[in-house]
Amino acid sequence: MKHKIAIVGFGGMAEWHYQEIQTMDNLDIAGIWDIREERREYAREKGLHVYKGLEDLLADPETDLVLIATPNDVHKPVAVAAMEAGKNVISEKPITLSSGDLQEMWDASVRTGRFLTVHQNRRWDEDFLTVKKILEEGKLGELFRLESRVHGSRGIPGDWRQEKEHGGGMILDWGVHLLDQILLLSGNVSLRRVYATKTHVTNQLVDDGFRAELEFENGVSVLVEVGTSNFVSLPRWYVLGANGTAIIQDWELHGKIVRASGVDEKDVAPVITAAGLTKTMAPRRDDSIFTEELPRVESDVRDFYKNVMAVLEGREESLIRLPEVMRVMKLMEAIEKSADAGEVVAFEP
Ligand code: NAD
Repeated sequence: MKHKIAIVGFGGMAEWHYQEIQTMDNLDIAGIWDIREERREYAREKGLHVYKGLEDLLADPETDLVLIATPNDVHKPVAVAAMEAGKNVISEKPITLSSGDLQEMWDASVRTGRFLTVHQNRRWDEDFLTVKKILEEGKLGELFRLESRVHGSRGIPGDWRQEKEHGGGMILDWGVHLLDQILLLSGNVSLRRVYATKTHVTNQLVDDGFRAELEFENGVSVLVEVGTSNFVSLPRWYVLGANGTAIIQDWELHGKIVRASGVDEKDVAPVITAAGLTKTMAPRRDDSIFTEELPRVESDVRDFYKNVMAVLEGREESLIRLPEVMRVMKLMEAIEKSADAGEVVAFEP
């Protein structure tokens, strides 16, 4: 069955969707609406239909699916209007700015019987799926620490992302992806406590980076960090289990796993440093560890769209569930609260 999608907001990310949709057999673009004439003109040049306005788009009987790719503060009003008009909705991330707003959108979805989802495309990132696989295979022994970072050095792009009223800041921008990934990895384990700090290196109005320490009920601690003034990037993932460590340096999946071989190393010779000696920090003897390549994981982000269409046809459940989206939204609020108060915040019982 062929579906047609109408796009509200035809900026940078909508262009990415446009490219993806070109490669799909059973999905077409019905048309777009953007408040800026230059973007409407750009869409016309691509041969796309341009609606006269949002109302015109929502009245189109050719489509029952609307993608919202506007700045973050516009997601909620457009989503609610679209569902009221009988359309199903994919919102770009973050779905909206607060858990209260999300509840209103969720209520609208229940009231209208329309499907509401969010484009959590980074669930298909291969670095994330590699970590997931390493943990599922139990390669590292009992997990006790996970660190997930993204670092750039250009500050926040010079657009609405710099402004609070549009839902700017890195917690909502990158945090929403990284936190969603961590909560997926943790499954049903309660997240007990959150401690966070924010940075304002290049921007005072919104956070241009943050660090969140998350403490789970099973003793696993997680660091999530986003930085935009980091001229040297720390690894994308650092995963520590009782019997091994995995490191993923970057999105190109450079990295390795190092595991204990089981050889007893009690008689380790101390290493002599400039001003002392240490056995504790002495490097491992070669026979006591072995190094493995990272497992290979393949993914296709178009599975997001395939799932949305299968949901609309009643063939599948949504891969992205609103309770998960709400959990992430509440976690972002807890991070804000902790950073503003300088205190640890209790999250789940
Ligand atoms: P952008 O500024 O490039 O594009 C936004 C577009 O929306 C602009 O063309 C603007 O004119 C238009 N717009 C603003 N208000 C509108 C309104 N009321 N009605 C119609 N059009 C309106 O921003 P972007 O980088 O494309 O980001 C858009 C959304 O996509 C954001 O929510 C962002 O968080 C998300 N995004 C997601 C990813 C991802 O990987 N999932 C990546 C980048 C951006």
